[in-house]
Amino acid sequence: MVAPLYNTVDSPMGDNEEQLPGIKDMDVDDKKQIWEDWNADEEYDEDDDVELLCLFCDSKYISSDSLFEHCFSSHSFDFGSIRTTMNLDFYGCFKLLNYIRSQVGQNRCWSCGTTCQSRLELQDHLHEPSLASSNLPWDNDMYLKPYMEEDHLLYDFDKDEEVDDDSMISSKEDMLENLKISIEENGASSSEVKSNDKKSNNAIDHEIVIVNKNYFGSYGSFGIHREMISDKVRTDAYRQAIVDNPSLIKGAVVLDVGCGTGILSLFAAQAGASMVNAVEASDKMASVASQIAKDNNRNGVVKVVNGMVEDLIESKQIEPKSVDVLVSEWMGYCLLYESMLNSVLIARDHWLKPGGAMLPDTATMFVAGFGKGATSMPFWENVYGFDMSSIGKELVEDAAHIPIVDVVDGNNLVTNTALLKTFDLVTMKHDEVDFTASVQLQQKGQSTVSKCYGIVVWFDTSFTNRFCKEAPTVLSTSPYTPSTHWSQTLLTFCKPISLSSSSSLVDMAHKSSLPAGTDANPAVSINSRISIVRGLEHRSIDISMEVTAVGFDGRKRKLPVQMFNMR
Ligand code: SAH
Repeated sequence: MVAPLYNTVDSPMGDNEEQLPGIKDMDVDDKKQIWEDWNADEEYDEDDDVELLCLFCDSKYISSDSLFEHCFSSHSFDFGSIRTTMNLDFYGCFKLLNYIRSQVGQNRCWSCGTTCQSRLELQDHLHEPSLASSNLPWDNDMYLKPYMEEDHLLYDFDKDEEVDDDSMISSKEDMLENLKISIEENGASSSEVKSNDKKSNNAIDHEIVIVNKNYFGSYGSFGIHREMISDKVRTDAYRQAIVDNPSLIKGAVVLDVGCGTGILSLFAAQAGASMVNAVEASDKMASVASQIAKDNNRNGVVKVVNGMVEDLIESKQIEPKSVDVLVSEWMGYCLLYESMLNSVLIARDHWLKPGGAMLPDTATMFVAGFGKGATSMPFWENVYGFDMSSIGKELVEDAAHIPIVDVVDGNNLVTNTALLKTFDLVTMKHDEVDFTASVQLQQKGQSTVSKCYGIVVWFDTSFTNRFCKEAPTVLSTSPYTPSTHWSQTLLTFCKPISLSSSSSLVDMAHKSSLPAGTDANPAVSINSRISIVRGLEHRSIDISMEVTAVGFDGRKRKLPVQMFNMR
């Protein structure tokens, strides 16, 4: 899987669209589309071509004004007057609209609570409300969570509202900004942002909702699915694991967590699964996957379930502990970016039968030191015969703060490969995704001093013979194997470290006075301690890297600790 990410080797710090996913091969429109999807919460301006769905029927409008006019004339709902009478602020209105949607979803009258047999009966029943401000059923923070995905009305109704009180939050943008600031400052709740005095988790919940909305929105773009499916290394590995292991799949109940187009579900149906539950949170992709299953006559076996794993476990649409094989392509850049692994573990715990199979069943992260050839410096050193190396130097300096996603050629690695962390998907606990591990790197196969510019991270996922008896397979994103859409992730040192495997290259005359890791006193090893933990911002990860250059005489030089955030 791939979700939007910002930096490729040439754009570590800029804030323009160059900082898009490591998706160099996508065309500009696709990239732009993803970026816009990802930033969707900031993008609803007057010119956006969005449709607003009526609160009570299927009519759609291009502005909230016209929608509310229709609600007034057709459904006895006068938003303006309720807002004024009840003195509802932005949050009050936000909650009211979500409350109404939740009630209408159950064919229940939002003002008197009567339940009707059908949506049509409800529409006939709707009447002017008689509301007492002491009893506002929507005045509950649970209604800060949008009831409907992609509910543009929530971001449109307040657009033209004038705010004359300085203490009031003037717009949605301000509100979101305040929510973000308050989250950073330990989570003041949405309703308390204005007074800024109490703290709660509501703002965090709200932030998660927004991040999820943008995240799943980005998966509604076909470009991403095309990119994933065209990644032959990836798709062939899954295909082999599913199709070439009949003893596992034939007659099995399969769960595909995050089915996207449904490609893995189709493989499972093709391989003889008795039933495939294809779960997908993006509304758009869930309906696309259904259609595709139908178009390929697999709709008898493939059952698409639209929703987030986290929400579906309550809904009983899939029987608990009913699944023989859980398949999912959940891996993000640097394996853990996007944090989809936790959703897979939730699905495992809830739906997988005891002893059931996980595909893949292990994931392993590796690291190695990279040389100058993996940076953009060689490119900038000779541009049509001109020396533009100042750009390369600046980019490498900037990269010390931001992980770069780019393809690294194995020839540009200057050290051995070290295993950083292995996850056993069958047994791992949810908090194991946050970890710290230490590695030792030594120069590989060189007779001269080499300069190590940083550490590159990659991963393999394996479909081992624990479950894949006939055809175990490994999906590798190593720099030594054909590249994948995950590329590799580069963590650049704040200063390169010179490395040697032979002490004869140490300049004995100066050795005692020079720090380890310099050209005259190259290090014999680089010791590094790397922590990867889920970031405060939902779906982001924080990486910290401690690096020590160890000299031939055992003396050590510690570089400043570096922090990287992937978001
Ligand atoms: N299985 C497809 C798509 C993989 S991309 C393929 O191999 O081509 C991951 C998909 O998982 C995306 O479509 C995303 O919307 C979905 N997804 C991510 N987290 C999810 C969650 N918590 N619940 C349901 N779907 C999720």
